[in-house]
Amino acid sequence: MIPDLLQSQKDYYKTGETKSVPFRKQVLKNLKTELITRENQIIEALAKDFKKPAFESVLTETTVVLSDLDLMIKNVSKWAKPKRVLPALLNFPSTDRLYSEPYGQTLIIAPWNYPYQLAIAPMVAAIAAGNTVILKPSELTPNTSALLKNIIETVFKPEHVYVVEGGVDISTKLLEQRWNYIFFTGSVPVGKIVAKAAAEFLTPLTLELGGKNPCIIDETANIKLTARRIVWGKFLNAGQTCIAPDYIVIHNSKKDAFYEAMKIEIEKAYSSAPIASKDFCRIVNEKNFKRLVRMLDNENCIIGGQTEANTLYISPTLIDEPSLDSEVMKDEIFGPILPVISYTNDTEIDAIISKYEKPLSLYVFSTNSAKAKKVIEKYSFGGGCINDTVIHFANHRLPFGGTGNSGIGAYHGKLSFDTFSHQKAIVKKANWLDLPVRYAPYTGKLKKIRKILKWL
Ligand code: NAD
Repeated sequence: MIPDLLQSQKDYYKTGETKSVPFRKQVLKNLKTELITRENQIIEALAKDFKKPAFESVLTETTVVLSDLDLMIKNVSKWAKPKRVLPALLNFPSTDRLYSEPYGQTLIIAPWNYPYQLAIAPMVAAIAAGNTVILKPSELTPNTSALLKNIIETVFKPEHVYVVEGGVDISTKLLEQRWNYIFFTGSVPVGKIVAKAAAEFLTPLTLELGGKNPCIIDETANIKLTARRIVWGKFLNAGQTCIAPDYIVIHNSKKDAFYEAMKIEIEKAYSSAPIASKDFCRIVNEKNFKRLVRMLDNENCIIGGQTEANTLYISPTLIDEPSLDSEVMKDEIFGPILPVISYTNDTEIDAIISKYEKPLSLYVFSTNSAKAKKVIEKYSFGGGCINDTVIHFANHRLPFGGTGNSGIGAYHGKLSFDTFSHQKAIVKKANWLDLPVRYAPYTGKLKKIRKILKWL
């Protein structure tokens, strides 16, 4: 079935319809209308999947997609137009242009943690750029996955955009096919599997992966505000956010005040019994719940530490001074558990951060701008914030993506359109002049060409 589906998309692509800019605009508008009509269904599906609060669904899922759609609809004509660039004097006389050409058949594999937004946003960009799409949502959020399928079937012809539901087996079958572009969002180990599959056909790809994101709080930080912003960025989606702070590295002198402030802010956000709060998500499934609970073993949970297996609940939790070899400091946590490690001098910060692969994000809280800048410049990571968490995601003018182990490539805003477009470089040479110097035989021309090259 998958090879037939892909063949139908190849055949359809050849008709050229997906490349027509008015067509792209029209289907994006149709999609927008459908998504607006279905917003309540989307919110309900997310709530069924992992008790995602409506507020968070609107803030981090539906609105993100709608503003992406608006941006694409508004700009697709401009972005799809060939762009003139300054010609090289060496080619004089010529007119040089860049053509944004769709890749063709694209595959998008999405994760479960923002199961709507991280599936639809790249799909919107792929369509705007003129491609066909097969989208595979995560099997771990089945309500959102089924709804996505239903929405896409309502708006698109299957030979243009189609949703294939399923888990690893289906994903593996999809990856056996030859694609013109693969866009994967998910974990590092699966990212490696995707990269290997892509290498088989030299398929270009984007890997949006994860990592262990440090959050540094120095001795000058405004602790009250720091705590409020960390509570929001860490416990949003119950910590199941690729750019959530993974662990805190805090100046020793501020640790006690930080714990006090975190207690207050957690209680303000989720009450003294977060289990009863409508604003706090659950862990997506039992496997992840057990993985997270293991991280609490033998640790000093200075805040929280409560769990409830039958509802997959883990309270907002802070672990005081775990060892760097402990379970919680091994890999990306991806849950509402926040280890806190203190330092007394800056070299200790380096020893901790340098132990891990390049993260997807890094945060630094400091009122000393020079110091914050130094940290930002010292480490290599996808993106981040000074004095806040997560919000760099919200600016479509900033690229979103990792580096090293946290990913390859980036998207958002115009870059999303460019990600799904091959930049074809064309020089149109005029015929009214044809300088003979470059043509063989070269005898006697070396001096002349050196002079010209120097002059240019
Ligand atoms: P995952 O890697 O387990 O799964 C992602 C997708 O890959 C799913 O659709 C899944 O069905 C598929 N998949 C799983 N195993 C596969 C295999 N062996 N072969 C082929 N396909 C396979 O990730 P997840 O648990 O859904 O999401 C969490 C991870 O995603 C975290 O590591 C997080 O940091 C990362 N993430 C990154 C971003 C980003 O934008 N950089 C955003 C969200 C999540």
